[in-house]
Amino acid sequence: MKSIKFKAMLFALCFIFIAISVLSFTSYLHFQRTLENEIHKSLVQSAKDSGAYLSYFAKHYVEPLEKLVTQLEIKSMDWTRQKPVLESQVNPYYLEIAIVDLSGRAKYIDGTQLDLSDRPYIQRALSGQTTFSEVLISRYTDQPVIMVAVPIINNGDVEGALIARLKIDFLSDFSGLRNYNNHGDAYIISDAGSIISRPQGDIFKDFLNLDDLSEGHSEFVDFKKFIEENAQLESGYDRFNFQGQGYLTGFSKVEDTTWTIYISLNQEKALEPLNRLTYFLIIGLISTSLVSAIAAWIFIRGLSKPIESLDQLMSQGAAGNLNIRFETKSKDEIGRLGESFNRMMDKIKTLTQYDALTGLLNQHVLENNIYMKTQDKSPQPFGLIMIGITQFSLINETYGYVVGDLLLVEISKRIKRCIGLGCEVYRYKGDEFVILCSDSEKDRLHSFSKKSLMALTQSYEIDHKIIDLNINIGTYKWDVSLSHEDPLKSVAHAKNYAKELGGNQIQVFDPEMHSRILDERELESDLLKGLKEDQFYLVYQPLFSVKNRSVVEMEALIRWRHPEKGMVFPDQFIPLAEKSKTIVAMDLWVIDKVCRELTKFDSSLKNVIISVNITSKTFESPYFIDQIREIIQRYKVDPRALQFEITERMVIESIDESIEKLNTLRAMGISIALDDFGIGYSSLSYIVRLPLDRIKIDRSFVQNMHESQEAKLIVSSIISLCKSLNLIVIAEGVELQEEFDDLKKLECDIVQGYFFSKPIELDLIKQTYFES
Ligand code: C2E
Ligand code: CA
Ligand code: CA
Repeated sequence: MKSIKFKAMLFALCFIFIAISVLSFTSYLHFQRTLENEIHKSLVQSAKDSGAYLSYFAKHYVEPLEKLVTQLEIKSMDWTRQKPVLESQVNPYYLEIAIVDLSGRAKYIDGTQLDLSDRPYIQRALSGQTTFSEVLISRYTDQPVIMVAVPIINNGDVEGALIARLKIDFLSDFSGLRNYNNHGDAYIISDAGSIISRPQGDIFKDFLNLDDLSEGHSEFVDFKKFIEENAQLESGYDRFNFQGQGYLTGFSKVEDTTWTIYISLNQEKALEPLNRLTYFLIIGLISTSLVSAIAAWIFIRGLSKPIESLDQLMSQGAAGNLNIRFETKSKDEIGRLGESFNRMMDKIKTLTQYDALTGLLNQHVLENNIYMKTQDKSPQPFGLIMIGITQFSLINETYGYVVGDLLLVEISKRIKRCIGLGCEVYRYKGDEFVILCSDSEKDRLHSFSKKSLMALTQSYEIDHKIIDLNINIGTYKWDVSLSHEDPLKSVAHAKNYAKELGGNQIQVFDPEMHSRILDERELESDLLKGLKEDQFYLVYQPLFSVKNRSVVEMEALIRWRHPEKGMVFPDQFIPLAEKSKTIVAMDLWVIDKVCRELTKFDSSLKNVIISVNITSKTFESPYFIDQIREIIQRYKVDPRALQFEITERMVIESIDESIEKLNTLRAMGISIALDDFGIGYSSLSYIVRLPLDRIKIDRSFVQNMHESQEAKLIVSSIISLCKSLNLIVIAEGVELQEEFDDLKKLECDIVQGYFFSKPIELDLIKQTYFES
């Protein structure tokens, strides 16, 4: 029962079937009643007509006899006078004609004399009444006969009677004569029960009256009962059963006789048209049902079609296709429903496709449009420009979200002004905008990007505040050969790269850059696993005292033996570890490892310090100090054998907090060295404030010293400054003799560099420098 069409069809079919059935049934009943009425009327009418005819026939028969008895010869009651008259009357009508005297004796022409005084019809005739006899066996012919007796009256007195035999065959064949054979059977039965007339060849043949008939044959009992019940009626209609079949019968008395005529019809045959009607009704029922069902189907289909198409549209809409429209010309409820549906879709489209703040198309539409373009049968190249704002969240935090929102609106307006035909601006994510251009011409993309960069880096005045933004722009060109790439990801990579490079610039997506980023990602995700699986190890670079060239320190440097990539150097993975925050675990792992090594140091290494590089994230961690304490306690090492290398960048942001932390470390006995000194911030005021033990001059100065007087001057100034502050000076990256010589002259305390030793295994350092 899933579709309206099915339900409506089922309903229509039931309705049609019931309606037609009721109609057929009532018309059947009506027809049956009409037919029965007609049969009733026509049977009664036939009986009446036949009765009238018979009456006429009887009169016609009796009339000549009545005339005859008025003749003198007959009246004379003198047989010699009567006989010649009678002889002249013997004709086909009157068979056996005779004169009966008052004693009931009958004289026939042939001289036969019979006593008929006991015959009721004779008695009635002698009492002055013209009479038909019942059917009786003639004493004269020994055959069943019907006699008619006319009284002979002379001078008012009955002198005798004239009797004649009726030609009974005529009556017996009455039904044949009246052509009832085709339609029914006719019987004439007298009041006394004599069967005056019967259909030819009927079973009645052997019986003269009803009593004999019902005695001999039980099937006639009902017939007899029927006759008796209706005996008093002049005419009428009833039914009797015979041999299991019903007979519809009309009857009428015959005037001037004691006879009644019955006309019967076999009920089954009479109602035969009803069977035919039933047959026609069934055919009619089926064909009307069929035609109506087809008509209903066509009608319902027409009616349900718009509902079905609306249903389909709804599911398409639910699946996300908002471009669907309901097309209908009808002005009825469905037409109005369709219009409302279209308006609703427009509204949804606006709500779901447009960004409420800027009025630009939203991320969902962008993604969908790009998907459509890439999945097209004949995909056309297109270009993408992604615009991001560095640290937009800071603006929200600083100026509030209202200003942030106004700024985004202004940005979207500026971008719109910078693009040309065939390009559309979308608000992608929060502070990111994307321009999708239907052509990917390099110059056009670049020109739009450049215009946008220029427009967006102009100051904004919002709510009396002047705001400047750092804008990152990435561009990307897609064509079918790049169908394996995700265009949005690619353009985002380019934009991120622009951001990494400091922002306010445009970066074109480049697959190499992309693969490098992918490699980095991979490496980044391998870091933690590598730490757990002991893929890292430490090497140590010895640091020498300038005065006596003895090893006074060793810098622990981490190495990664990657299961697939082989040896990976810290420059490749430390920045990634910093990004993913694995660095904290890594630094602690190094400290742990170093402390464990320290426990193995013998007396010869007693005064050698191991220096460990600490990154800002680790240093900033609130748990850092406690973790260090815990490690030192665990290995029970002397903290004075440890040195942490920090950089200016690490401490500069929250200088006071850093100073406090450094003091704590120093109080524990750990030395602090300032690494890579000279590059970056290098504010001398910091060196003064920071609690330091050593300064490590960056190798870029050391390596430039013999070429550049300026570098030499810087190194010399750093050294003398440190001396004045009682700081030990270390020079990094000493590769050449002359560099060492210069440093020696400048009274540098400690040197580190390939000129002395590369970072090597600890055992090798022990062997080389401490086991002599
Ligand atoms: P860094 O702290 O400045 O470490 C010194 C780097 O200079 C080491 O490179 C070392 O091998 C290299 N070096 C030493 N002498 C010379 C020389 O004469 N010439 C040249 N060209 N280089 C020399 P490495 O081991 O590749 O480390 C690079 C950077 O990675 C380190 O710079 C440090 O910032 C970081 N790093 C290394 N190990 C660790 C570690 O265990 N923890 C942390 N947090 N960072 C580490
Ligand atoms: Ca270092
Ligand atoms: Ca360094």
